[in-house]
Amino acid sequence: MIKFNIAPVAGQEIEFIQDAINSRHLCGDGKYTELCSKWLEKTTGTPKVLLTTSCTHALEMAALLFDIKHGDEVIMPSYTFVSTANAFVLRGAKIIFVDIRPDTMNIDETKIEAAITNRTKVIVPVHYAGVACEMDTIMNIAERYNLYVVEDAAQGIMSTYKGRMLGSIGHLGTFSFHETKNLVCGEGGALLVNDRRLIERAEIIREKGTNRSQFISGRVDKYTWRDIGSSYLMSELTAAYLYSQLINAQYITKKRLKLWSIYYQYLYNFIDIYDIELPCIPNTVEHNGHLFFIKLKNKKTRDNLIEYLKDRGIQATFHYIPLHTTETGKKYGEFHASDNMTCEQSDKLLRLPMFFSLEEETVIQICNVVVDYLKKAREKI
Ligand SMILES: *Cc1c(COP(=O)(O)O)cnc(C)c1O
Repeated sequence: MIKFNIAPVAGQEIEFIQDAINSRHLCGDGKYTELCSKWLEKTTGTPKVLLTTSCTHALEMAALLFDIKHGDEVIMPSYTFVSTANAFVLRGAKIIFVDIRPDTMNIDETKIEAAITNRTKVIVPVHYAGVACEMDTIMNIAERYNLYVVEDAAQGIMSTYKGRMLGSIGHLGTFSFHETKNLVCGEGGALLVNDRRLIERAEIIREKGTNRSQFISGRVDKYTWRDIGSSYLMSELTAAYLYSQLINAQYITKKRLKLWSIYYQYLYNFIDIYDIELPCIPNTVEHNGHLFFIKLKNKKTRDNLIEYLKDRGIQATFHYIPLHTTETGKKYGEFHASDNMTCEQSDKLLRLPMFFSLEEETVIQICNVVVDYLKKAREKI
C-alpha cells in the first residue's frame, strides 16, 4: 500500500522534546518557541513571527487584527481550504470568491479589482501547492484601494516570489505545520507580521487579549486585559518537534523537489499523447514541491483513475470542493462574476502521493500505473 502522505521525521525531534521536558517549561513561549520564531524570522526576512496552534488560528488572528466586522467583504479564491474563509466568516464577513487561473490554480489577479466594493477590507491570496500568486499585482491593487493582504501560505514555506519568501510579502502571512504540509509538528502554524504597526496587538491577541508577552520580556511590570483575544500559543513540546524540522528545512525541501521533478519528467512525455496537464511553475517563482498534481480530461477520467490507483494499492486524492458550491459557501459568500475555471479545473485535478520519505523508485512505479490507466482509457474510446 502506497500512502498518500506520511508525516516527516527529520531526526532530532525526540532529543529536542526530551530537552523541553527536562526544562519543565511546557506551555508556550519557551526556548523552542524562541528558536523556531527566530529561525522563521531570519529565513523569511520578516520582522515578527508568532507561533500558533494552527494556520487556521493564524488566519483567525488576522481577521481580529484587521477588525473585521459584520458586513465587511473579504476577497479570496473559492478553490481553497475552508479555514481561509472560516476565519473571516467567524468575524461576520461576507466572502467574495474570485475565479482562479487554470495554470497555477491560484486566484486570477486580473479579476480581483472588479470584485472590490466600498465594503472590501482584505484580499487573501492562497499560494496553492506552494506556487506563488502574482503578488506584485495583488499588492499594487491593495495599495490603490487601501486594503490589507493576508497571504495564506499554509503550503508555501520555503517558496519564493521574485526572490522573496512567501508569507513575507502581504501585511500578514500564515504558515501551517499540520502533518500534511512540508514541515510539520502535528498541529501548528505561524503568523508572519510583516507590517510592524500590527506587531504589538498581534502579541496581545495571541495571549488571550493580555499584554503577558510584554510582561514576560520585562517591558511592563504587570499584565492586564487589553483587547479581545484567544489562546493561540503553540506548546513547547510541539515547538521542539517543529525546531527539528526547521533546521532540516533545506534538506526536506530538496528531497521533495527531487521527487516532484521525477514525476514531472516522467509524465511530461505523455502530455500530448494522453491529453493530460502538469503543474505550471511561472519563471518568477521557486516552489517547494508541496504537492504533485495532474489534470485529466474531465471529472470522470479523474475519478476512474483514483479508483484504478486504489485497486493497485496507491492512495491518490483530489481537493477542494470549491467553497462557493457548498451550502455554507452560499450562506456566507458569493462568487463574483462567473465561475469559468474554478469548478472545471478542480474537477480534473488529481493529487499523487508526495511526502518526504517517499522513494524515488516508488514515484516511477506510481507513474507507470498512471500511464497504464491512460493507455487503457484511450483504447476504450
Ligand atoms: C492546510 C491549510 C490550511 C489550514 O492549516 P491548519 O494548520 O491545519 O489549520 C489553511 N489554508 C490552506 C490553503 C491549507 O492548505
